[in-house]
Amino acid sequence: MKSRTIAAIIEPKDPHFVGDGFRVHNFVPSIVPMELVNPFILLDYNSRFYFPPTEQVRGVGVHPHRGFETVSIAYKGKIAHHDSMGNSGIIGEGDVQWMTAGSGILHKEYHEQNYSRQGGDFQMVQLWVNLPAAHKMTEPRYQSLTKEQIPRVTTPDGKGQVAIIAGEYEGHKGAAQTFTPINLYNVELQAGATVEFVLPVRYHTLMIVIEGSVVCPPSKRVATTNQLVYFNNDGHQFNVVAQEKTTLLVINGEPINEPIAAQGPFVMNTKQELLDAYHDFRAGKFGVLTD
Ligand code: MN
Repeated sequence: MKSRTIAAIIEPKDPHFVGDGFRVHNFVPSIVPMELVNPFILLDYNSRFYFPPTEQVRGVGVHPHRGFETVSIAYKGKIAHHDSMGNSGIIGEGDVQWMTAGSGILHKEYHEQNYSRQGGDFQMVQLWVNLPAAHKMTEPRYQSLTKEQIPRVTTPDGKGQVAIIAGEYEGHKGAAQTFTPINLYNVELQAGATVEFVLPVRYHTLMIVIEGSVVCPPSKRVATTNQLVYFNNDGHQFNVVAQEKTTLLVINGEPINEPIAAQGPFVMNTKQELLDAYHDFRAGKFGVLTD
């Protein structure tokens, strides 16, 4: 089987704050354009960062979304969420929130109170997954996936585990329901572990090294903590070898070949649909949520 080659290993660029709770490095679309990694339209990575104890609520206040899904994956610290559909949840290490904004939702995202009071390291990923035109106006949905609910597969060498957040790995199905084919894995490797990924050639593929370092055969290029690996669409498989205890997030999805009209919190197909989104938001059609 032909190997998927690496297009680039990308350093996180200067972080910016989203609200006052998320110190993120943006990878998509500011470094890797969304058209190249479609259906992934935004990738914000909060590398490990220490927040001191506070009684304040750190995070992002009430804001709308329409036309896509927001996926939050927690590694350190705890994140709370509330939305105008009445859904809420708290995620911690290894847990995932998969929110389908669909036809429109208001939500707020912030540090969970007990974590905030104690302070501590915070590390998470937020990924925006586009919806195809046929599902952009779907009913909003919220999937709270705890670490325990996410199926795990041990690698053949016994030294690694692949948690299948979405999609499929080695014939095992993941936890999340998706609208288009997505494979999303949290991968935990001991030093020396080898793991192989067999994924459709034309699906776009990214990998973040959350912690540790890996060698990527056959090029033997090395990716280390906080780097993003952006793969070409030229092979059926790739494998990595952990140089130390390592955590990876593997992101893979089938392209949605439709026009993208994106502005602020809305991602639609046409400019008119963006105007409609702003109009409907101002008209109160996204429901009610208080700060
Ligand atoms: Mn949001």
